[in-house]
Amino acid sequence: MSQTALASIVRGVASMDISQDDIKPKPFIPTHKPTNSQGSGSTSHNRQASVSKLLTKYAKPNPFQPAPSNQSNAVRLALASNTHQTQQTAPPSPVKVTVTKLFGDEIDIGKYDGGFEAESAEGRGEFVHGEAAKALALDSSQAPRPTSSWHLSQFDIGRPLGKGKFGRVYMVRTKSEPKYILALKCLYKSEIIQSKVEKQIRREIEIQQNLRHPHVLRLYGYFHDEKRIFLMLEFAGKGELYKQLSKYGKFSDKRSSRYIAQMADALAYLHSKHVIHRDIKPENLLLGINGELKIGDFGWSVHAPGNRRKTLCGTLDYLPPEMVEGKEHTEKVDHWALGVLTFEFLCGVPPFEDLRGYNATYKKISKVEFQIPDHVSAEAKDLIKKLLQHDPEKRMPLSEVASHPWIVKYKKDRPSSQ
Ligand code: ATP
Ligand code: MG
Repeated sequence: MSQTALASIVRGVASMDISQDDIKPKPFIPTHKPTNSQGSGSTSHNRQASVSKLLTKYAKPNPFQPAPSNQSNAVRLALASNTHQTQQTAPPSPVKVTVTKLFGDEIDIGKYDGGFEAESAEGRGEFVHGEAAKALALDSSQAPRPTSSWHLSQFDIGRPLGKGKFGRVYMVRTKSEPKYILALKCLYKSEIIQSKVEKQIRREIEIQQNLRHPHVLRLYGYFHDEKRIFLMLEFAGKGELYKQLSKYGKFSDKRSSRYIAQMADALAYLHSKHVIHRDIKPENLLLGINGELKIGDFGWSVHAPGNRRKTLCGTLDYLPPEMVEGKEHTEKVDHWALGVLTFEFLCGVPPFEDLRGYNATYKKISKVEFQIPDHVSAEAKDLIKKLLQHDPEKRMPLSEVASHPWIVKYKKDRPSSQ
């Protein structure tokens, strides 16, 4: 197909997807290069790279929405490539694109351990009935923005990625072309009901399926059978950030600064959608195949269209004073958590941790009592202090975090930071 013909199809599809995705076109400023065998680079990929370039001006579409019958294979491949855009307001050129290969036969998805069948033989999960069962009959092909309808038999299952509270997570590939690579997360309905979190899980799914941001883990679709719900998640190839932090103890200034820049960008996006995360911590962050950060857990998120919430939740170490003190809270809780995260990346422990127990930690948080070790640079100290303010309104706005000297200094497009 000629470049011009391809471009015109891509333009058509892209404009169609803008109306579906409710995101304004934004420029992309890359932060990480592909680093492993799953990254871009093959000759066969060059054509896809040029198509992705054309798409970068637009929102990343959902490849699992029913495709119009005249949509060519070339375009569907383009839809699957990882076209990023960010919240930034910088001029759109020069546009560089990191293309991530997330489909195809040549990616090794590893060996399936038979976990689903083993669980079924062991009798894990029960049939569910009544209102709770209705609440958990979750199927994205029936959602307001419907996807194609899916079933477990449509996937080749690969290696186990981890075990969650309610079920296992596997690396999978769709059997149908172009063979998308995904993480498939299983949740047992009866266990969700036992834990009385049907509403929370529904909310998590509803929130996540509407979000499209390079640093927010994408939920492409979901379906269910009698006992289980399956979530089709973006594959986070480098796993949990928490594991990296445990492995290295703490991160360098450069690495921390780049993660915090990505977090600030993702949080600004969430807040613009009236979503407060409320549970930012290393355990809820995953890493994409290029090492980019992905917020991956929305269990405690709330849609907050202008109202303030009082529920006490979140992990102790990351709770802000207003939540510890049982006061109303706003999206500024996430600014506080960003300060805690910056501290933990650089020091290896969160700032208010107190081994004497909960009460001691609460007290420290309430008094904003923390000490930044000497090895932390003056610039990083400044950012931490400006985020860890008792008064939520005094916490540094996310736009200012993005332009803080400690963030700007390590930006990847600055030659001095390479
Ligand atoms: P937990 O309470 O242990 O956090 P959970 O129910 O929230 O459990 P997840 O954290 O989502 O479950 O998933 C369990 C593990 O599976 C994760 O720790 C991670 O290692 C892996 N995992 C989950 N989602 C993905 C993904 N999209 N890509 C790669 N690995 C993933
Ligand atoms: Mg989790």
